[in-house]
Amino acid sequence: MRKISAHLILDGLGHCYTKGIVTLDWDGTILNIEDTGGALRESAEVEFFSGMLVPGFINAHCHLELSHMHNTFPESAGFVPFLKKVVETRASEPEYISEAAEKADILMYKNGIVAVGDIANGTTAFEAKKNSSIYYFTFLETLGFNPGRSEKAFHWADNCIKLAESMGLKGSIVPHAPYSVSNQLFEAVAIEATRSGLPISIHSQESLAEDDLYRTGSGEMVDHLRDNLGIETSHFTPTGESALRSTLKLLPVENHLLLVHNLFTTQSDLDYISTVRKLSNTWFVLCPGSNLYIQNRLPNIDLFRRNELQICLGTDSLASNHQLSILEEMKIIQQASPSIPLDELLGWATIHGANALGISDWAGSIEIGKRPGINLLTNVDFSERKLFPGTRLKKIC
Ligand SMILES: [Zn+2]
Repeated sequence: MRKISAHLILDGLGHCYTKGIVTLDWDGTILNIEDTGGALRESAEVEFFSGMLVPGFINAHCHLELSHMHNTFPESAGFVPFLKKVVETRASEPEYISEAAEKADILMYKNGIVAVGDIANGTTAFEAKKNSSIYYFTFLETLGFNPGRSEKAFHWADNCIKLAESMGLKGSIVPHAPYSVSNQLFEAVAIEATRSGLPISIHSQESLAEDDLYRTGSGEMVDHLRDNLGIETSHFTPTGESALRSTLKLLPVENHLLLVHNLFTTQSDLDYISTVRKLSNTWFVLCPGSNLYIQNRLPNIDLFRRNELQICLGTDSLASNHQLSILEEMKIIQQASPSIPLDELLGWATIHGANALGISDWAGSIEIGKRPGINLLTNVDFSERKLFPGTRLKKIC
């Protein structure tokens, strides 16, 4: 048994304890939370930390298998040029990929991340995930814009997910993005998602080029598909509507859905989403570090707050970020929108991600009976309850 305390304890649910005491079992399960009302008596059995204790972080969107591409791409190059670069450079020796994945996993662990919604296109990072102390939910991503590829693409994903399951890893089959998945492949993914009932995710509204593709059948994305990937696009009939409006309805409404990036989302898009599915099982994953890296742009964060949506945070991959740290993502958001209370921002980094991934029975908040992991944040602004650019993190358990 271990008793810990700090100047402030933020539980991830909006409650703050001043010099409270958290009692932990040896495996990190929370046995008790004592609200001392700030009057902590010195005691040999209580470890006191200078700073703020918060729950372990949830990284709702990552690509561990792209970790070997760290520092490969120039910043602010734009989205479609980034896609082209990924295609050109992602192939590498499997040992090299898995070694980079292992290192990235250790970094995430040290950065206080306890669970990850991790995209995979193959199996190269499975071993790293299997051996990790972090919980991984793998979103096995299907790719196939040409309907003729649908069966093969789904079969590949199905085989990969079966291997993941045999290794004790949980996961589901998901569509990559509207611009890379045919209606037939969407249909196969939807049938499987309905069968499994597991969370699914999709890259959504990360570019305007995906809208050009669906509205007019032309533009940068079509050129990319044809010229860089050699994909035949003559089968495709533009819908005359945005990518979101053309494809969201193809996903089952009952599954948890993580919409990732939402960089160009507008109020009218949100109004539309609420007509297609329940917002209570829809999460909006923001990856501000990656968005700045690739497109030097941030999503309209206040729009999601005004609509009281469930926001999560993701790092995306090391191909498009300087580090895999949810704390750094929080700092970017706080700098862009200083009026967001830290308690609220912390909820995005913890409980919302846990809810999205279906693991809130043990993760996401400091509550009795959970084993959420606990991080100590030091060098924080106590009076304004804000992070400083120099706020640091130490994993306590
Ligand atoms: Zn991604």
